[in-house]
Amino acid sequence: MRPRGRQRPLDAALAYADRGWQVFPCHTPIPAGCSCRQPGCSSPGKHPRPTRGLRDATTDQQSIERWWTRWPGANVAIRTGAESGLVVLDIDPPHGGHTSLGAVVAEHGALPRGRTVRTGSCGAHIYLAHPGVKVRNNAGTKLGPGIDVRGDGGYVIAPPSRHASGAVYAWETRGPDLPAMPDWLLDQLRPPERRAPEPLAEQDRRLGTSSSWAQAALEGELAQVRAAQEGQRNATLNRAAFCLGQVVAGGALDRSEVEGLLIDAGLSTGLGEREARLTVASGLSAGYEYPRGPASQTHRSSAQRAPASPVPTRAELSLPAVDVGGIDLRTIALDGVRDIGATLPEVDL
Ligand SMILES: [Zn+2]
Repeated sequence: MRPRGRQRPLDAALAYADRGWQVFPCHTPIPAGCSCRQPGCSSPGKHPRPTRGLRDATTDQQSIERWWTRWPGANVAIRTGAESGLVVLDIDPPHGGHTSLGAVVAEHGALPRGRTVRTGSCGAHIYLAHPGVKVRNNAGTKLGPGIDVRGDGGYVIAPPSRHASGAVYAWETRGPDLPAMPDWLLDQLRPPERRAPEPLAEQDRRLGTSSSWAQAALEGELAQVRAAQEGQRNATLNRAAFCLGQVVAGGALDRSEVEGLLIDAGLSTGLGEREARLTVASGLSAGYEYPRGPASQTHRSSAQRAPASPVPTRAELSLPAVDVGGIDLRTIALDGVRDIGATLPEVDL
């Protein structure tokens, strides 16, 4: 036992597992950046060490001891969602989290505070009980900028992990129980009702295909992402985000819902959360510039018009070859995306 000083990551991981929280090891910030040794790693100390990412999360004592014997300094990640019975609100001050939290509290009253972590970026993780219905991850679009929700398909970095800033995640308040999510919060986080914007509802009546077309596009792209192999995961996710960004821009799908589903799918392949979010955000934004939908067929002359297909093929949704000043858009859309887990050997600290 260590009477004082920083708790060993292994001991913390075992204690979390003892509570029924699934854990897995993440990389660790080091003076040179990240223990993954990838130059310019996009999420130092925050991406999973196991290749299957959070799908490897477990409460199994032997697995946990094996991991932290191999990587004694590995950061500790806790899987959120139904598996651990947890939802965590991530308040991130550099992105406006305190301001957004102030607005939320002013409208709805104080959040319950059972267990809170001070994060490495001077923010807070507020731990709440999972309500038993699906709670999607959300990056600042439901509760305001700088408040992220980590629910089903998510994870948080937990004490005594180190942040890239050098700070250590620490418990600020502890409690035996997790408070329930207030009803108003649950309402805010509910997936949006299936809806069609006004002009699209018109189209729907006329074409009768738009919703099923968009839904098929969504399901097809999510399936592609989930089936992606190491080395292809990030490129596939980016491509799917681009294609669905086009459909979102056409008004047939809800952006925040698509974003959440894509991030979940990316995480399920073992990508780190930050990496998945960045990839999805950049792909969606790039695709948003080039709207697509069944209505785009009306641009063709009636002589050229192909029979309306209710299900777009992947080729139909593929990236357009748009030349922007000699730069192929496809290069831009796929730029800056790396598959860290796939290309790097595991490096011990
Ligand atoms: Zn890294």
